[in-house]
Amino acid sequence: MITRDALRRLAEFQTDDQCAISFYFQPTTPVDRSHRDEAILIKDLVRAAQQREGKQQRENKKNASAAAQADLDRLLAMADRLDGNHSRAKVIFACGSQGIWEEFDVPAELERTELIVNRRFHLRPLLAVVDDLPRTLVALTDRKRARLFDVWMHEARQVEDLSDELPRRGRSDGFAGYDGGHAERHFDNEALRHIKHLVERLLERNKAGEFDRLVFGCRDEMWSDIEAQLHPYLRQSLVGRFTLEVATATPDQVREAAEALLAEHVAGYQQGLLREVLGEAQRNGRGAIGVRRVLESLERGEVQALLLGDNLRAAATECAACGHVDTRTTPQCDVCGKPTREIEDVADALVGLALRNAAELVRVKDDAEFERAGNVAALLRFRADQNTPAKVAS
Ligand SMILES: [Zn+2]
Repeated sequence: MITRDALRRLAEFQTDDQCAISFYFQPTTPVDRSHRDEAILIKDLVRAAQQREGKQQRENKKNASAAAQADLDRLLAMADRLDGNHSRAKVIFACGSQGIWEEFDVPAELERTELIVNRRFHLRPLLAVVDDLPRTLVALTDRKRARLFDVWMHEARQVEDLSDELPRRGRSDGFAGYDGGHAERHFDNEALRHIKHLVERLLERNKAGEFDRLVFGCRDEMWSDIEAQLHPYLRQSLVGRFTLEVATATPDQVREAAEALLAEHVAGYQQGLLREVLGEAQRNGRGAIGVRRVLESLERGEVQALLLGDNLRAAATECAACGHVDTRTTPQCDVCGKPTREIEDVADALVGLALRNAAELVRVKDDAEFERAGNVAALLRFRADQNTPAKVAS
């Protein structure tokens, strides 16, 4: 899986030579296209890149380009055996001259198959799958047994079956009228012990970094007991809960129930964030709207979350010396005066800057107000220009 750390590392990477290769493979549904056609498409993309590299090699940058050629050959060799699992897409970042070759599986929701050779890795396509990258753990539990499921990329896999067997309630419990209450309390204690055991296991898994989001499956009457035991770390990753029977639930049922909850949760979270940013921007607070403002905030390290739509297109230039990105297409850098070069995809530059700033990436889909705001906005941690002593004190 692509961790936040890995993303940041990839975003920080750059080379003076054009040899950072980003390859995105989006499988098509079998009806659309045969596996063979997919392999042909990949080969075409690789060969086109090889021709461009070859031209460069003849012109000047021999060594770096030779390494890129070797990476491209390796991709070419992979084309035929890229796995036929249509539920997964593949992403590869490579830079042979720096010894980098990293492969990741991601949900099959990329916009297209593409291959880019550049100075930096091209990370924008990941925006399409950013909502599905976090890992979810589902804890399905009753009073004595819990089944834990790892839900990721539209698959659910049981990873643990935890049983805290209750002692039998036999004749020794006596009359219901007299000892029944005792048996009932005993039963509650056992259930509580089981819940504590479960929560302990979840905390261990949480500390091991095995999941980002937590979902419970249990009966209504158990929920308050579980909630009362939740450690703050677990509460932070808690998305919600549904009801399914522990004994009979299938992995598919678990996945469906969890995904429905997750979709609702993500949509609610994004809407909340978007309203907050638009509101903050309106009253000149911790919100930035539009490419120019967002770029400035990113370069000042102010951004906490970058909100990006799919339809953002804007011209921009980047300084080869200091890396300053500008929406004005000037031949000289505003900051250091060195020559600039055009960047084709400003969204890609924004995503890279956001990741290098450890900012959260949020994809906004189908929101008219956001479209009108220019398809890009940011929630700021602070505003450098407002850090006056009076402000800080307040
Ligand atoms: Zn510069």
